[in-house]
Amino acid sequence: MSSKAILKTNKKTFLRYLIFYFFMADIVIGLFKTFTYMFKTKVTLNYPYEKGAVSKKFRGQHALRLYPSGEERCIACKLCEAICPAQAITINAEPRGDGGRRTTRYDIDMTKCIYCGLCQEACPVDAIVETPLFEYATETHEALYFSKSKLLENGKRFEGTMFY
Ligand code: SF4
Ligand code: SF4
Repeated sequence: MSSKAILKTNKKTFLRYLIFYFFMADIVIGLFKTFTYMFKTKVTLNYPYEKGAVSKKFRGQHALRLYPSGEERCIACKLCEAICPAQAITINAEPRGDGGRRTTRYDIDMTKCIYCGLCQEACPVDAIVETPLFEYATETHEALYFSKSKLLENGKRFEGTMFY
């Protein structure tokens, strides 16, 4: 490149710099960009006051379902306990008078659970399911150790709202 051409290019660059410096073009462009966003649809939510939609297939807190008669669905086959990769489920069982089996203990340690959904996939009677409930942060481990009564309570609360 000749020295004349270099001088011409440098002049152009210098002029552009002067315009940006004295007229604060960067700030004006930035403010204009911000202004245009005022008329666009908001993509953020003011959580927890505003909440987004939760899929019916969302895997949140667990629940043990009952039949409409009030009888427990769970037949204590322990398939969910066996398949759980996190070993979060603990079940104790006893025989029922009619030859079936029932659980005497059904605990889930939610601090171990990885929400894989394998327990609900394995259950032959759709007894253990995962609800759309995801807001249950606590400060203690004990509060995240769910007993059978807590899971049955969830089952009653979410029956009819879940997708299996
Ligand atoms: S969702 Fe997965 S990790 Fe959690 S209890 Fe069920 S099988 Fe175990
Ligand atoms: S919840 Fe389902 S898989 Fe687990 S023990 Fe009961 S019947 Fe078996």
